[in-house]
Amino acid sequence: MTSELEELYQEVILDHSRRPRNFGELADAAVRVHGDNPACGDEIHLGVKFGANGELQDIKFTGHGCAISQASASLMTMKLKGKNRADAMEMLGAFHDLVTDEKAEAPKMLGDLRLMQGVRKFPQRVKCAMLAWRAVEQALQQNVGESTISTETDFAAP
Ligand code: ZN
Repeated sequence: MTSELEELYQEVILDHSRRPRNFGELADAAVRVHGDNPACGDEIHLGVKFGANGELQDIKFTGHGCAISQASASLMTMKLKGKNRADAMEMLGAFHDLVTDEKAEAPKMLGDLRLMQGVRKFPQRVKCAMLAWRAVEQALQQNVGESTISTETDFAAP
């Protein structure tokens, strides 16, 4: 990345970690997933409500942890709100590639999430960036109810 991009990256991450979007309890959530990243101490509580066609009608989170984990969750909720399941899963795959694969292109559909590309230079932060995405992946598989996931036990690879 150019230094200008790196500055922008830091600005966006700090902004979202200080003022996370879609932060709060989702009162009528169909599914709630608690995600833990013990490697860093990050925690996410994600609530998802599905619409009539199964789309992610509403999505909110609470939690605490490092700036990367909170910013990734904030950016993710903005991006996934209103999306159908197929699009959400496609974005999950694209985001995972973005933060793990040095050669991955940053697809346009990821929008501001592309700025998190810098994480790929810090392998120990990948789990921070992926935590919220692992939680939403679980929510989509589960559809209803509550569960807990951990980046250490449920996902051997980052
Ligand atoms: Zn972290």
